Amino acid sequence: MANYIKTINTGDSYDIVIVGAGISGITLAERYASIGKKVLIIEKRDHIGGNCHDFINEAGILVSKYGPHYFHTNDEEVWKYVNRFSQWHHYEHRVIGHNHGKSFPIPVNRITINTAFDLNLKNEQEVEQWITAHKIPIADPQNAEEAVLARMGKELYELIFKGYTTKQWGVDPRDLGTEVTDRIPFRTNDDDRYFTDTYQGVPLHGYTKLCEALVDNPLIDIIFSTDWNQYKDQLSSIKKLFFTGKIDQYFSEKYGSLEYRSLQFEFETLDQEWYQQYAQENYPSLEIPYTRIVEYKHSTGQTHPHTTISREYSTSEGEPYYPVPSERNKVLYEKYRYAAMELEKQNIFFVGRLANYKYFNMDQAFRNALDLFDTVENGAK
Ligand code: UDP
Repeated sequence: MANYIKTINTGDSYDIVIVGAGISGITLAERYASIGKKVLIIEKRDHIGGNCHDFINEAGILVSKYGPHYFHTNDEEVWKYVNRFSQWHHYEHRVIGHNHGKSFPIPVNRITINTAFDLNLKNEQEVEQWITAHKIPIADPQNAEEAVLARMGKELYELIFKGYTTKQWGVDPRDLGTEVTDRIPFRTNDDDRYFTDTYQGVPLHGYTKLCEALVDNPLIDIIFSTDWNQYKDQLSSIKKLFFTGKIDQYFSEKYGSLEYRSLQFEFETLDQEWYQQYAQENYPSLEIPYTRIVEYKHSTGQTHPHTTISREYSTSEGEPYYPVPSERNKVLYEKYRYAAMELEKQNIFFVGRLANYKYFNMDQAFRNALDLFDTVENGAK
């Protein structure tokens, strides 16, 4: 077991101090403890796992505190790594959307187009023809709206992306980078899986248990509910520091604040076995205030006579979830990145989604931390 400590003895000499107990922080802790280093993790919240923290709620159902996480990867090494710490429940994510009085698979495939527009396109070729006739010729899309229009046209943009993206980000899709909507593929076949990666699933007993297993080493001390700033000047003997929090906060926002989009969840436990057909159902319409409804048991595989759902609302206040890829933020982040690079000479490293100001999928977070460890310790690229 890791040592869950209540106070930091600043006289203790740690080889490694890690700020944040999310995926990036605990992966680095695991790697360093495995080579005999003494590690301290300082976590602001009162739990492990960052935004993938899950727990059994009062009804006995496994739910995610900060929204669902579906693991998917083509990275064999990362898949092997995470399998060392947990058994996995095979789960392939599927999503349906509801809008304009219709229900259809997301990402767009042949069935989406036929259902949404009352068509009968019979094969991939007919879908290609439909798309060619509808997509808008934009040679070099400059924002999230143009990116969708260029790939699939106005009808699908208005059905699936316009309202959802506006609600999710609180700005016009024209003010967001193309990478926001480019995450969502477009298919001409009938594949209705959200991800097509080789390895997909969720940890059999949840992400919190997976995270606990990663730090299961007596060389690791963890302290919760503690602000790193309190100890910043006292932990003078630290050999290496890994910071996984907000990069602008590390530098006391000296160049200005980066924007982060947050989420709020409205949980409801119902006296029925199932609420909806899929783990996730999206509501792109602006008339509905939430973006999606998630029903956890579909993905965890749990059997239970009751069910818990959560409605998801996007906000600008609260825990940071998503870096907002606007022009302003990109320029600002470059300044912080440069300042962060300078600190590497003093063995201070910035790692993870908040420190890199980049929306990582979970496998990318593991990969990023594993690569950083290799680079720092072995000089690998
Ligand atoms: N998106 C959308 N409609 C949908 C699903 C996604 O417009 O039904 C857009 C939206 O801008 C979202 C982005 O695509 O932020 C990425 O979606 P993804 O499902 O990857 O978001 P996440 O699950 O990471 O919040």
